[in-house]
Amino acid sequence: MNKNLRKPVIAGNWKMNMTPAKTAAFIEELKVKVAGKNECDIVLCVPYVDIQTAVASAKGTNVKIGAQNVHFKESGAYTGEISAEMLLEIGAEYVVIGHSERRQYFGETDETVNLRTLAALNAGLKVILCVGEMLDERELGITEEIVSMQTKIALKDVSAEMLKNVIIAYEPVWAIGTGKTATAEQAEEVCAIIRNVIAKLYTKADADATVIQYGGSMNAKNASELLSKENVDGGLIGGASLKTEDFTIIVDAAQ
Ligand code: PEP
Repeated sequence: MNKNLRKPVIAGNWKMNMTPAKTAAFIEELKVKVAGKNECDIVLCVPYVDIQTAVASAKGTNVKIGAQNVHFKESGAYTGEISAEMLLEIGAEYVVIGHSERRQYFGETDETVNLRTLAALNAGLKVILCVGEMLDERELGITEEIVSMQTKIALKDVSAEMLKNVIIAYEPVWAIGTGKTATAEQAEEVCAIIRNVIAKLYTKADADATVIQYGGSMNAKNASELLSKENVDGGLIGGASLKTEDFTIIVDAAQ
C-alpha cells in the first residue's frame, strides 16, 4: 500500500493560545506521554513568542517545533513581520503557511502563500501548506477546482527536491474550529485529488512520497477513522492540540 511509503505527521496548530510559561508546562507533560512514539512525526506550531521556550522544552524529545506563519522577504521594512532566517535561528523546523484564518482575516492570497512557501523552503524550513474549500464552494460542487488551484499556485517554482520538505494540509474551511468534521470519505476523496494534482505537476513517485494531512475538528474520537484512510497521512489539529491527553490519543491513532 502506498500509505506505507509515508511517515504520518501529527501537527498541532495552537493559533493564538498559550504563553511561554504555559508552553513549557505543556511540553513537560506531553513529552512523557509521547516518548518513544516514533511511528509518526510530532510537531507543535506555536505562537512566535513561544518558539524559543518550546524548542528548549522539547530538546532531546521526539517533539518538533514550528511557527504559524513567515514573511516572504528576507529582511527589510516590514514592521511586525518575521523572516524564515529568524525562525530557523531560534530553532523552528516547520512553518504553517496559508492557514484559512490567515487567508480570511489577514489578506493572505494564493500568490503570497506561494511566496512564503518559496522563502521558507529556500531558507531550510519544512512547510505545512494549507489548502481547502469554503462551505459555499463545496455546495457549488467546485471543491476539486478550488483545492487543485490552491495547490498548483502554492507550488509554483517549487522543485521536486524542495517538495520533499512540503506537507500539504487539506483543511476544509467549514470544518475548522466548528466541531464539524469532514467524513473520513470526504477527507480521503480530497486528499486523493491533491495527490493526483501533485502527480501531474511532478511524478507519481513524488506524489506517493508527499505527506497529505487532514485538518478540521480532528479530535480524540474521530482521529483513528480519518487516519485509517489511504491518502490521509496525518493531521493538522487546532483545538484538540491544546490538551495533552487529546493530542496524545491522536498521536496514538497515527502509530
Ligand atoms: C486548524 O487550526 O488548522 C484546525 C484544524 O483547527 P481545529 O482542529 O480546531 O478545527
